Amino acid sequence: MTWHLPADLVERYARGRLDPAQVMSVESHLAGCPRCRAAVPYEEGWLAASWERIEDLVDMPRPRAAARVLRRLGVPEHVATFLAATPALARGWLVAVTGVLAFAVAAAHLGAHGGPDKANALLPFLVAAPILPVAGIAMAYGRHVDPAYELQAATPMAGWRALLLRTLAVLCCAVGLTGAATPLLPAPPGLAVAWLLPSLALTAAALALSTRFAPPFSVAVLAAAWFGAVAAGPLLADDRLLAFSPGAQALYGAAALALVPLVYLRRGRLDPGDPR
Ligand SMILES: [Zn+2]
Repeated sequence: MTWHLPADLVERYARGRLDPAQVMSVESHLAGCPRCRAAVPYEEGWLAASWERIEDLVDMPRPRAAARVLRRLGVPEHVATFLAATPALARGWLVAVTGVLAFAVAAAHLGAHGGPDKANALLPFLVAAPILPVAGIAMAYGRHVDPAYELQAATPMAGWRALLLRTLAVLCCAVGLTGAATPLLPAPPGLAVAWLLPSLALTAAALALSTRFAPPFSVAVLAAAWFGAVAAGPLLADDRLLAFSPGAQALYGAAALALVPLVYLRRGRLDPGDPR
């Protein structure tokens, strides 16, 4: 290397008087030239302190968007971070939920134009919507789904608090997204929200079963039971929407009300990390 930084350029660089393009060219030379590096004056204490700040900044993980939103809503930082790390609330899951809802809304519109029986067109939406939160619960917490489970299991928030907190977050997200999709349905408001009570009942039932079995197993059993209940409608009463009739809704409401206290009483057994 034959060219070196002139002394006045080094001085202006050290005083911060160069424009960004000049700084970049000076620094690319400094990176390869020990002689010029030695000519740049620096203060050791300042260098150590600023390096430490840079290291802190680089090592600090950037909070996820969800955590930032939760913090703004007043959720304590440790809870926001924990909720934002819920595997079920990852972008892939939200995209999948949105996709299912969009598909079901489109099916409802296509069906509504196709035949006289408009209510049947709603069936895909009404059947899928209550499954979304419970499927999320299966992916919310536990050794089998969460890569950070071992770390979290060692924190005071581990166990039932963690599962309930994340279930609540998943439920809010699923119900929020489904609620947002509901006005897009070509249906009377009463029928369009017929998914809500089954959602709550299935969620409560998923938690109740999870005090006994691992969440993915509980959720699989409930999903099968739900599809069975919907399929029973046309078989028992020649009514495809029997599972969404007022009588059935009363059953879902009663089940949810009965299961919530049960889950609370048995919360000590909600330890999904415990292999059973
Ligand atoms: Zn040089």
